[in-house]
Amino acid sequence: MNTVPVIENRFWQHDAECMPRPQLESLQLQRLREAVARASALPFYQKKFKESGFSPDSIKTLDDIRRLPFTLKADFRDNYPLGFVAVPRSEVSRFQGTSGTTGKPTWTAYTRGDVDRWADLCARFLVSGGLRPEHTVQISFGFGLFTGGFGLHNGIQRVGAAIIPISSGNSARQIMTMQDLRPEVLICTPSYALKLMDDILSGNIDRASIALEHAHFGGEPWTESMRERIESGLGIRCWNNYGMAECGGPGIAGECAYRNGMHIQEDHYIFEVIDPDTLEPVKPGEKGEIVVTPLTREAMPVLRYRTRDIGIVYDDGECPCGRTTRRMSRIMGRTDDMLIIRGVNVFPSQIESALMQCKAVSPHYMIEVSRPKALDEITVHIEMEPSFFSDSMREMQQIRENIDRAIYGATGLHMVINLVSPNTLERFEGKSKRVKDLRNLKF
Ligand code: AMP
Ligand code: ZN
Repeated sequence: MNTVPVIENRFWQHDAECMPRPQLESLQLQRLREAVARASALPFYQKKFKESGFSPDSIKTLDDIRRLPFTLKADFRDNYPLGFVAVPRSEVSRFQGTSGTTGKPTWTAYTRGDVDRWADLCARFLVSGGLRPEHTVQISFGFGLFTGGFGLHNGIQRVGAAIIPISSGNSARQIMTMQDLRPEVLICTPSYALKLMDDILSGNIDRASIALEHAHFGGEPWTESMRERIESGLGIRCWNNYGMAECGGPGIAGECAYRNGMHIQEDHYIFEVIDPDTLEPVKPGEKGEIVVTPLTREAMPVLRYRTRDIGIVYDDGECPCGRTTRRMSRIMGRTDDMLIIRGVNVFPSQIESALMQCKAVSPHYMIEVSRPKALDEITVHIEMEPSFFSDSMREMQQIRENIDRAIYGATGLHMVINLVSPNTLERFEGKSKRVKDLRNLKF
């Protein structure tokens, strides 16, 4: 566990963030009962409770959460559009949606109270990651249905910092704004940060013309090695935060000054970690699928949402920052993006970590899965760092072998390594799509 803070340790709602565990757990129990009572107004849960013989007033301990039904992504689709909204329409103050770009979004609704609490939850991780009222923040998350833009906007407003709601896209204008308005803080997806970093570093931009000190990234998986790349490339500190629209959006967990994982906002959320096959809890400290129960959401009381995200909830004692809440690891992958290649389970994040160990490769890569003959094959297309590009076949072969060794070390698999010229792979303004699975395509 890290015992040295990276920045000054500060709080937004000190008493709530540092509540003694017994008090926190009794608050969770009381709020869980209230959440179950709200959920029992929905036909979806009424049916589930009836099927399992569960009585909504029978929650006696926090372990009783395991008697509640799970909620799946498909349940939102089956109850589209508003089957999970538990308040009269007149009490809804905001609709947001999931960030999928195709098909219908999953709507998520908030009462005025939900929006208010959401702002404080976002303020918590922003402040613990360095935001101060005197700062200016450039929000390069998409504004719109995506919970990132407006969620962080409300949190920053609550802290009292100045906001530039520039939204995503048009990187030349993003950089011009950074130079002209000199924000100290940037909000975006890690993949958009990579794009901005490339444009800044390759565009002869004087670093002194940009005042950035911190960036807060969320919305998609990224690795510790990616953090090191962006931090050293831009000379800033990058912070991780986690959330999903179905449970309210960003603000569910975020890092503190000690960077010991992301503190889960346990006064508002209960986390479980389960084995996705058996649905039983994993052993403490083991990785599994994260299941989230929001405790205070009024408009949409979702119970035990199976996120499909894979991670660990640490069970190694209190963080030196003073928060009493448990912490979670980075998201290591999703049950639905895990690739099974010749019987081996591979997550794209393992490949990313391996690639980032090799100095010759840039952070831009694309993983392609195909089945040329009977066996699955992965090809990793990787942009090289321009300074390592060489006409010598031998040097290029050496680089390929280094990458192969790193990937084999991380995954136990050999993959086809395709080194491509700088600036040839797709760039992303929001969430990235770095895996192409050609096995499902029908020609
Ligand atoms: P959305 O539909 O935009 O609410 O997407 C939520 C999903 O984005 C989560 O279930 C995660 O898969 C992913 N996500 C959000 N934040 C992070 C993060 N910090 N690290 C990894 N994945 C994240
Ligand atoms: Zn901490």
